[in-house]
Amino acid sequence: MPGFELFGDQEREEVNKVLDTGVLMRYGFDGMRKGQWKALELEAALCRRMEVNHAQLVSSGTAALTVALASAGVGAGDEVIMPTFTFVASFESVLAIGAVPVLVDIDDTLTLDPKAVAAAITPRTKVVMPVHMCGSMADLDALKELCDKHDILLIEDACQAIGGTYKGKPLGSIGDLGCFSFDYVKTITCGEGGALITNNETYKKHADHYSDHGHDHVGNDRGAESHPFLGYNYRISELNAAVGVAQIKRLDDFIAIQKEHYSTIRKALAGVEGVTFRRVPEGGEENYSFLNIFLPDEEMARKAHKALSEAGIDGCFYWFDNNWHYIKKWDHLKKATSLGKLPQDVLDNLPDHEGADFSASDHWMGRNISVLIKLGWDQETVASRASTMAEVLETVLKAG
Ligand SMILES: *Cc1c(COP(=O)(O)O)cnc(C)c1O
Repeated sequence: MPGFELFGDQEREEVNKVLDTGVLMRYGFDGMRKGQWKALELEAALCRRMEVNHAQLVSSGTAALTVALASAGVGAGDEVIMPTFTFVASFESVLAIGAVPVLVDIDDTLTLDPKAVAAAITPRTKVVMPVHMCGSMADLDALKELCDKHDILLIEDACQAIGGTYKGKPLGSIGDLGCFSFDYVKTITCGEGGALITNNETYKKHADHYSDHGHDHVGNDRGAESHPFLGYNYRISELNAAVGVAQIKRLDDFIAIQKEHYSTIRKALAGVEGVTFRRVPEGGEENYSFLNIFLPDEEMARKAHKALSEAGIDGCFYWFDNNWHYIKKWDHLKKATSLGKLPQDVLDNLPDHEGADFSASDHWMGRNISVLIKLGWDQETVASRASTMAEVLETVLKAG
């Protein structure tokens, strides 16, 4: 998955164009910048590639989620439904604006179970936030139907799934807003960075102002700009945007490489009795950044994970025990441990995630192993990894 694997001349060239001008900020300094507007260039490229009208670059994927929520008018006490399997950033962004994260079960897609979402909707629900984990997507038609019925926003966290599609449309472009991360370990990287995309002109205007202290960006004197509403600083720098300008041109090549590697490994594992694969919703195509398999039970998954590691197969993740990606280890969220006092709306309405029954999520997470697909492997490496993995899994499954 990581774009950092293939950092090279194209990225260097774009960064040097910025260094030549010395203008590291995305706004202003028109006279000095010799026509270099890297953030604007990357936003235009994102609009083209994602088939949307608007994109707003920001400083991280977490910032993209926060700005997306704020731009759509989500605020204190509003509830945002999201999956138990995600990255901490998803609920961090919600808490950052004083809203309330409501975590619900996933299914065999490893993303939101639409039935669990339906059961969690209350009069306070403002957003459903599917997280397209490990390159594949939630059942977006089912979620959209629910959202339309209850007049709720759909905001896609597509930070791990850039380049994937659902019914022919790019992931991130299907909801009211969609968010990407360009941190250092994502499919394409800016070093640090993120973006939201939307077809809604008002949300774009809000995002543009909110991410830059509420500046209205009218005229060409920053000091004279007014602020129609309160904002914050979530700006990206031109240096980071420059890396992204080079990387997005390579996105389709990266996905093609991932698809080839993924397919080789999948074909080998498909022959192992007892191994099954994550369900991809009908009409969806992954971005092939991970291959996700299920073992028959938790014990077998643990044994398989250990055996793969002992056989020298790196990059296999057992998320069920992972600190960053699954609710089991999120005591700070469950106990609402923060440095200062949280907003009263959050304290009053945060669900009892500790006492909740997430056995349906445990069922899938406990059996899952996630295999990272790297860009840098050559064909020989992939073929040998695939056969080693198949052998290891066969041995584990035979032993029971
Ligand atoms: C990486 C990631 C984010 C946050 O992105 P940062 O750029 O690291 O802030 C949000 N959601 C998911 C699912 C992610 O994987």
